[in-house]
Amino acid sequence: MEAYLKCDICGKELSVKEPWNLCPQCGGLLEVNYEWGHFHPEKVRKSTRKGIWKYRECFPEIREENIVTLGEGGTPLVKSVHLSRKLGVEHIYFKNDTLMPTGSFKDRGFSLAVSYAKEIGVKRGITYSSGNAGASFAAYAARGGLPSVILVEYIANSAKVSAIRLYGGNVAILHYRKFGEIEKMLEESVQKLGAYQFVNFINPIRHEAMKTYAYEIYEELGKAPDAMFHPVGTGGGLWGAYKGFRELARFGKVSRLPRMFCVQPDATAHFREAVRNRSGQASAYGDCRNTIAQSIASDSPLKKGERILSAVYETDGDALGVTDEEIVDAMRELAKEGIGAEPSSAAAVAGLIQAVKSGKLRSDETAVCIVTGSALKQPGVLERMAGQDPPKLYADVNSLRILLEQLKL
Ligand SMILES: [Zn+2]
Repeated sequence: MEAYLKCDICGKELSVKEPWNLCPQCGGLLEVNYEWGHFHPEKVRKSTRKGIWKYRECFPEIREENIVTLGEGGTPLVKSVHLSRKLGVEHIYFKNDTLMPTGSFKDRGFSLAVSYAKEIGVKRGITYSSGNAGASFAAYAARGGLPSVILVEYIANSAKVSAIRLYGGNVAILHYRKFGEIEKMLEESVQKLGAYQFVNFINPIRHEAMKTYAYEIYEELGKAPDAMFHPVGTGGGLWGAYKGFRELARFGKVSRLPRMFCVQPDATAHFREAVRNRSGQASAYGDCRNTIAQSIASDSPLKKGERILSAVYETDGDALGVTDEEIVDAMRELAKEGIGAEPSSAAAVAGLIQAVKSGKLRSDETAVCIVTGSALKQPGVLERMAGQDPPKLYADVNSLRILLEQLKL
């Protein structure tokens, strides 16, 4: 099966064997297209590989010796027991990507993108991150022997920055800039420095791995869910899942696509604003400093967010904004289910709760929330949520008896 790159804007086609980031003709985003020919999905079903590499046939070709893997993908689809009862929606699922090698869903994309970089002979890579992508890139680059430079947003917390450094990534923290200015710097670095980028969408390969959300969820449920709730920064996860379901539809496996719900912090909900105006383009909105959801706090959409909006409109989905209070409530709901999620991940669940209340998700429908990152990614938020220190106890049985009495257990 042949793969090639195609520009979103001018349609120019380029070889997938060369390190392209943006269209050399017009600067547009590039997307991997496939000549499916006689490809048969049975090939995937019979694969003995695990995680995202089970679906290797649906990626650009990468030779075995170039695959850089830590066992990413294949995460549990956990059925809600408490929230579903509370909301009266029986079939709510959490795709638990907190269990990934570096604690976030970014590992799907970086396993594929770093492997691909090795395959085509890239010598160094640069990315820009609020923290999770940086840690993931640093880990896979270290394992794959690829020198990495990671530009980190100044809002990234010290735990995330330290994790990047642990893996040996070269980190620099950017002074405060609007995302539009950062996007311009990244684009210019492609043109003027020949720096191969791993930033979502500017890198055309990373989100290919997010198609595995669609494949894994389909295999587990035996159908497409009615709705999917994604926390969205640039939207690589949402776009990848949408593309994966489109491929499943092409293979005749599903008859319709899930409604894609894009969930952002209220403080930077530029996609919600665009959808309210029925616009196909989003523009700068809000301030990324005004939310606890660091991983998805982006004050401007990359390339006007056209891909994300097209996926939302085509699937009859929606774009939602959730407040920090709603996010904290959703973190507690997830914790009751046994899942510790960082604020950005819980935003997806906050979005689902909002959709049920507004009638956008019906009680008989099946919904999946993508839970993208571990609670341990933002320890400061956990400490603030916990409040007072727990009681101190002398190590004797009488003290323990008193504690149990106080707890009425
Ligand atoms: Zn172009």
